[in-house]
Amino acid sequence: MALIVQKYGGTSVGSIERIHAVADRVKRWVDQGHQIVVVLSAMSGETDRLLGLAKQIQERPEPRELDVLLSTGEQVTIALLSMALAATGCPARSYTGGQVHILTDSAHNKARIRDIDAARVRADLDAGRVVVIAGFQGIDEQGDITTLGRGGSDTSAVAIAAALKADECQIYTDVDGVYTTDPRVEPKARKLARITFEEMLEMASLGSKVLQIRSVEFAGKYRVPLRVLSSFDEGEGTLITFEEDAVEDAKISGIAFSRDEAKLTVLGVPDQPGVAHQILGPIADANIEVDMIIQNIADQAATTDFTFTVHRNDYARALEILQTTAHALGARQVLGDARIVKISLVGVGMRSHAGIASQMFASLAKEGINIRMISTSEIKISVVVDEKYLELGVRTLHDAFGLDRDGSD
Ligand code: ASP
Ligand code: MG
Repeated sequence: MALIVQKYGGTSVGSIERIHAVADRVKRWVDQGHQIVVVLSAMSGETDRLLGLAKQIQERPEPRELDVLLSTGEQVTIALLSMALAATGCPARSYTGGQVHILTDSAHNKARIRDIDAARVRADLDAGRVVVIAGFQGIDEQGDITTLGRGGSDTSAVAIAAALKADECQIYTDVDGVYTTDPRVEPKARKLARITFEEMLEMASLGSKVLQIRSVEFAGKYRVPLRVLSSFDEGEGTLITFEEDAVEDAKISGIAFSRDEAKLTVLGVPDQPGVAHQILGPIADANIEVDMIIQNIADQAATTDFTFTVHRNDYARALEILQTTAHALGARQVLGDARIVKISLVGVGMRSHAGIASQMFASLAKEGINIRMISTSEIKISVVVDEKYLELGVRTLHDAFGLDRDGSD
C-alpha cells in the first residue's frame, strides 16, 4: 500500500465528464489499496475568466482581493470531484488551502509555502477517505487567502507530498510525459521513461513547459519522487529521478529551445578593468536578466567587443540603456538583434562522454547553420542561431544524437 498524491490540471477537470473520469481513475487506485490525496487546479480557462472579471472593474486590483477571487476556481473543482467520488462509492472530503492550513507568506499573487499541517489529512486517510485539496492557494499568518502564482497547483501538490512523506507525487496533465523535445517542432520526439531532476530543471527553464519550475525545485529539495503522466490515456509517464544511473545510457537526454531571445553587442569598448560591470550594471539595475555573455579578446587598439543576450521582452529597454552606456564609454557602435533563438542540448551523460560539443557544431555546420554564440555548463550546451534555423537546428540535433523515435511505434 502506498500513499500517493495525484495532481490533476485544468484540462483534466475541464468538464463534468472529465471530473467523472478523474473520479474513476482515483477509485481504481483506491481499490488497489492505496491512500490517495488529490490536488486540483481550476477548470481550464477559469482562472483567466476570473482575472478578466477583475480587470473589468480595475486595471490593477488589490492583490489581496484578487487572491480571494482567484482561489474560488479551485474551490469549485474540489467540491465537484468529492461529489463524483462519493457517487462512485468512494468516500472523499474536500479542503481549501486554508482548511488544511497550508501556511504561506503574505506575498499575495505569488506567495511561497512555509508549512503544511498534515494532521487533518492523515486522519481522513486513516479513516479510509480520499482527501481532495485545492491547489494554488494557501493562507497567511493573518488568515488571509493567498495564491502561489500561475501554474501554482503543481507546487501545491509537491509540497503536500513532501509534508505527507508520500511515496510518489503524480502530476496528471494533457501530455503523457516529458519528451526529448517539443513534438510540435520535431514529430519524431520520443517520450522519456526517466529524466533526472537536474535535467528536468534545465528542460523546464529552457521552455519545455510541462511543470511549473518551482515545483521541480521543490521536489528536488525535499526529494519527492515526481511523475508526469496523462489523465487522458493509460501509461507510465515520465519519472523524474534522483539516480543518474537509472537514466537511459544516452549522451543527451533532450533538446530544449527558447524563442524569446535577443542579443546586444557593443563594439569598441576600452579593454580595461570595470568595463563589464559598467555595461551590465545599469542593465541589472533595470531588473533585466542577462543570460549569455561573450567578451572578445582585445586587438592592438586595446578595445574589445562585448555581447550578451536578454529576454526578447526586455530587448527595447536594454538597447536604450546600452546606447547611453556606450556613449559614456566612448564605444564605437551598438548593435542589436531580436531575431535569434537558443537551442540547448541537455544531458547528465555529458559528464561521461567527450566530444559532444564538437559533434553538435559539426552537425549544425553540415546544415549551413551559423552559430552566433555558445555557452556551456556541466550538463548543457547552448547555441544562439538565427530564428529561421530553429526547426532545422532542433531536428538536425535530435537526429544526430540518436533521439529520434524509431519508426515502429
Ligand atoms: N488555476 C491556476 C492557474 O491557472 C493554478 C494552476 O492551474 O496550477 O494558473
Ligand atoms: Mg498547469
